[in-house]
Amino acid sequence: MSQPAVWFVTGSQHLYGPAVLAQVAEDSQQIAAALSASNSIPMEVVFKPVITDADSVRKLVLDANGDPNCTGLIFWMHTFSPAKMWIGGLSQLHKPALHLHTQFNESLPFATIDMDFMNLNQAAHGDREAGHLHTRIGLKRKVVVGHWGQSKVQEAIGSWGRVALAWNDWQGAKFARFGDNMRMVSVTDGDKVSAEIQLGFTVDGFGVGDLVSEMAAVSPTEVAAKLEEYGDLYDLVPELQIGGARRSSLEDGARQEIAIQGFLDARGYKGFTTTFEDLHGLDQLPGFAAQRLMAKGYGFGAEGDWKTAALLRAFKQMESGLIPGTSFMEDYTYHMVEGEECVLGAHMLEICPTIAMGKPKLEIHPLGIGGKADPIRLVFEARPGPATNTTLIDLGDRFRFMVNSVTAIAPPPMPHLPVARALWEVKPNFADGLACWILGGGAHHTAYSYNVSVEMVEDFAMMCGCDCLVIDEETTRKSFQRRL
Ligand code: MN
Repeated sequence: MSQPAVWFVTGSQHLYGPAVLAQVAEDSQQIAAALSASNSIPMEVVFKPVITDADSVRKLVLDANGDPNCTGLIFWMHTFSPAKMWIGGLSQLHKPALHLHTQFNESLPFATIDMDFMNLNQAAHGDREAGHLHTRIGLKRKVVVGHWGQSKVQEAIGSWGRVALAWNDWQGAKFARFGDNMRMVSVTDGDKVSAEIQLGFTVDGFGVGDLVSEMAAVSPTEVAAKLEEYGDLYDLVPELQIGGARRSSLEDGARQEIAIQGFLDARGYKGFTTTFEDLHGLDQLPGFAAQRLMAKGYGFGAEGDWKTAALLRAFKQMESGLIPGTSFMEDYTYHMVEGEECVLGAHMLEICPTIAMGKPKLEIHPLGIGGKADPIRLVFEARPGPATNTTLIDLGDRFRFMVNSVTAIAPPPMPHLPVARALWEVKPNFADGLACWILGGGAHHTAYSYNVSVEMVEDFAMMCGCDCLVIDEETTRKSFQRRL
């Protein structure tokens, strides 16, 4: 979206006369302007003329569906708006919806309140009429309750708006796969046709040779510019510095990054997958390139994992306007000492440096898998703090999102581990959290984020029309199993 905008739609009717409708429009404009100016909402909020009849709902919805910059719609009933007038239009809505249950006045003017005030400020029952109809027609929507001027209300609208950006970004999105998914693996496979029908994005396969020929076309000038950038951003080990014995591996890594980004941009792809089983013509696994491109907002999944590549891209959209902190992740190994249980998350190479604490180190080490030259990689520790770990899986007859609320902790020194890593504790506790994850069918690949909350994942699943399983501090194994 070049200029994303949420539409602010107010419902009313002609019963009250033109003076009341003029006041409704004025109040709505003021609310839309305040939401638009809010730092918590990362897009414009545009006032739309007050709805008083069925034809204007139909027109509004057709316009919204057809506007590439319309991120979604906020609905609010300032007065009572008989809901049958909304059926024809809302049944056609193909954009994310939020029902803001608010009121223009924060306080009731008890000393002066009269029937004029009562008739103008009827959201308490007008919004119930709307909510009933939304439920009746199965409208997928977020409900936010509270005064529009309050920061928690604006933050809730902003979070939904970020999720809506991601949903819009998926519609018509394309993801490229260099090679197929890892042989014999179940969870990275799935139905790409169903994904396009349900989730909106398409997944295309390419031979890795297409990438190899793009690499050959990268100019020495482009490589030199990249190497300078790496020198500014990362601490290079001596072997990779100017004059270092393995500087040519860094040049090769730069060529991979430039070629992959060029390949994706030229064809309109928003993310990609690689696999160590299909690297013919490449000197090293392009893990550093994946790290770099994730940091630029591209989706990525290793071993051909197109679902996680798409999920990561969506999360990158959701953190629009925030300090980025989202990565492809794999639950790799456990610390199982009683009372200290935690997960060590990492991958062969491909962890996004936006989750790093401090300046990443650019290193080169052997890789036991893939039978290629030693790959360069960024090595760092993920910062401590609350985070989420999310999986998107194909259950054959439907897709499922599952999110675990986790707490990243400061990792102890691991001087012999030559990859980026994160250490976290799972909620509600190690045994129950992991039992639920396994019972729910969650993958080992995830999108890990400091910015995407559990509620945002739930909202995203709702927009996608998928079920979403949550494992957080309130989860018990029993309640989770009943939910399954
Ligand atoms: Mn993996």
